[in-house]
Amino acid sequence: MAYFDVHTQESLIRKWARQLRAVVASDRSQVPIASLAQARGISRIIEIPLHSDGLLARDGNELVIYLNKQLGVSRQRFTCAHEIGHTYLGNPLLNDSSTKGEVGKDKGCYVEFTQQNSIDEYLCDIFAVELLMPREAVESLLNQYGASIRCVQRISSIFGVSLSAAAWRMAELDRENLGVIWFKKMGKPNCPEDVRLRVHWGVFPHQQRTYLPRYDSAKADSLVVKSFLSGQVVEGPEKMDIGSVRGLKHLVCKRFYNTVLCLVFDNVPASRVTDSHLKTLPI
Ligand SMILES: [Zn+2]
Repeated sequence: MAYFDVHTQESLIRKWARQLRAVVASDRSQVPIASLAQARGISRIIEIPLHSDGLLARDGNELVIYLNKQLGVSRQRFTCAHEIGHTYLGNPLLNDSSTKGEVGKDKGCYVEFTQQNSIDEYLCDIFAVELLMPREAVESLLNQYGASIRCVQRISSIFGVSLSAAAWRMAELDRENLGVIWFKKMGKPNCPEDVRLRVHWGVFPHQQRTYLPRYDSAKADSLVVKSFLSGQVVEGPEKMDIGSVRGLKHLVCKRFYNTVLCLVFDNVPASRVTDSHLKTLPI
């Protein structure tokens, strides 16, 4: 595929994901990922011990997806969708068996980590998000629950994806300028014993560029820390100073195991059904 610009590629790969989903008729919310892989010419999906989440390889005339057997089911589904995405990006090592052997130690197989192109990695993540969580269905959950922790949990359980993938999809389809930061209780590489709630991962789909320094820590009086200590949904205004995420924001935070999911709103949306209100509703 010729590289024109990333936005054109992004809309193309989203279109391919929607087309692929339509190939296998299913009325289930959780797309039949193995059948979709098969429809893309992948003959086997194999779970093995791996250092990465997964990889797509050529084995003779076959295309095979290897998945890290230690990942949970939802992470495996996302990884599998990501690897299917690679079949669209025209990697010559996948398409042309005459290049076999050029990858050296990997016995002619194309393996994920030999690929330098991080744009492809980004596009394959976009592909997975679009394939696993249909826009209309997520938008209808957003209308029902508003952008909230509850909505993230519903997306995750309905579509069989991780909370991270669900939060990403919710943020990108929300009409407001919503971003997501995951904090994790951990040390720094150069100071492993200095354990704090630190930036682990984040996404701000409505912004051109966001810089989030990994390992930046949440302040001791932050709502992030409060939600970690209480285990409850904690929300309110907070002045942020993490990379390019600065100034007064409205945060909604919830602890999950040793992490905190933090929804970052630019403003307090007047019409939002808050997570604290939801908690008091009868189930
Ligand atoms: Zn990849």
